[in-house]
Amino acid sequence: METKQEVHAFSGAVQSKLHKASTSIFAVMSAEAEKHNAINLSQGFPGFPVSEELISLCHKYMKQGLNQYAPMPGVLKLREMISNKMKKAYSLYYNPSDEITITAGATQALFTAISAFVKAGDEVLLFDPAYDSYAPAIEMCGGVAIHINLNESDFSIPWAEVKNRVNHKTRMIIINTPHNPSGSVLSASDLLQLEKICSQSDIIVLSDEVYEHIVFDGYEHQSVARYPVLASRSILIYSFGKTFHATGWKLGYAVGPKNLMQEFRKVHQYLVFAVNTPLQHAMAEYMQCESNYTEVHKMYESKRNYFSSLLKSSRFKLLPCSGSYFLLLDYSNISKNKDTEFALHLTREHKVASIPVSVFYKNAPDQYLLRFCFAKEEHELEEAAKRLCAI
Ligand code: PMP
Repeated sequence: METKQEVHAFSGAVQSKLHKASTSIFAVMSAEAEKHNAINLSQGFPGFPVSEELISLCHKYMKQGLNQYAPMPGVLKLREMISNKMKKAYSLYYNPSDEITITAGATQALFTAISAFVKAGDEVLLFDPAYDSYAPAIEMCGGVAIHINLNESDFSIPWAEVKNRVNHKTRMIIINTPHNPSGSVLSASDLLQLEKICSQSDIIVLSDEVYEHIVFDGYEHQSVARYPVLASRSILIYSFGKTFHATGWKLGYAVGPKNLMQEFRKVHQYLVFAVNTPLQHAMAEYMQCESNYTEVHKMYESKRNYFSSLLKSSRFKLLPCSGSYFLLLDYSNISKNKDTEFALHLTREHKVASIPVSVFYKNAPDQYLLRFCFAKEEHELEEAAKRLCAI
């Protein structure tokens, strides 16, 4: 008979470096969705397939034998394609040789950038509600996350407060546009205010632009790269997972001026060294057809419009969504329960899973908001809307 010896728990003191971290809400809600057979609009991943052409390209490069380590900063052809895109879209030239690095998704790129620049005691300003990896990454480096709540009415940045919070310890400011979870976008005036606040300082801006191609209503994405003075102190972060709806491939990149990218790469080489080779070659070839990424907003805009129109007769209030693939719904006409409780109730009783917005805050205001991901097939959006309208 086979005997099974189980591993004993570590008997020493574990001394967690992230003692506040628990199971992420995304895992919790997805598990709840599965358990209760609910439509899962909680986690932000597209529910439709990756392009067949892109899959064939990956296969082609694997068959060609490009299966060993890529160069540390990434496959040069891909960095060249990114440089072309940045120049065309934002009129700023980043040198592929030393100003662009391919990463294992945006989360790794964010962590790398924070590790490269944030030292013990440094303060980093971030805006809540915020993507959940920023604060733990700052904490892991011994930095202090300074959470500033976005304005409640429209999720804009309260610049007067930012100005007050900046001091000699401020090492970094993290911005995110289009914004997860609110779907808001920054304007030209926002970036000019940021530029002014940072001038005469050593502050580095970390600009999370993973939804750069998902902006709606004819709006132009306000990349930091459109503002050369600001760009000279900024690392910009992107994700192929978002642009090509292949979140499971975990491929992204960072761009920044040479002297900042040099520091970024020092960390990158010890954290991952290099990332998936055949996928990088495939992305480089796929990017040759510009419409593969410049047109992606059309598909998401029609999904946003469709989902919103289906929800018009519901008791939820729809908040404006100018970018990303998330829509916030205000349920205050239905319940005044906490959003974490209401999200569970919705999943269990009405079979639609979402994310309570308070989890993206350190100090959440009193609000009644849930985030729904509309990057799904039409039939799924229809069924979800039907269930939400029945409440
Ligand atoms: N930043 C934001 C704002 C995001 O929403 C996400 C994905 N949810 C990421 C970064 C991470 O992207 P990736 O999957 O490429 O790590």
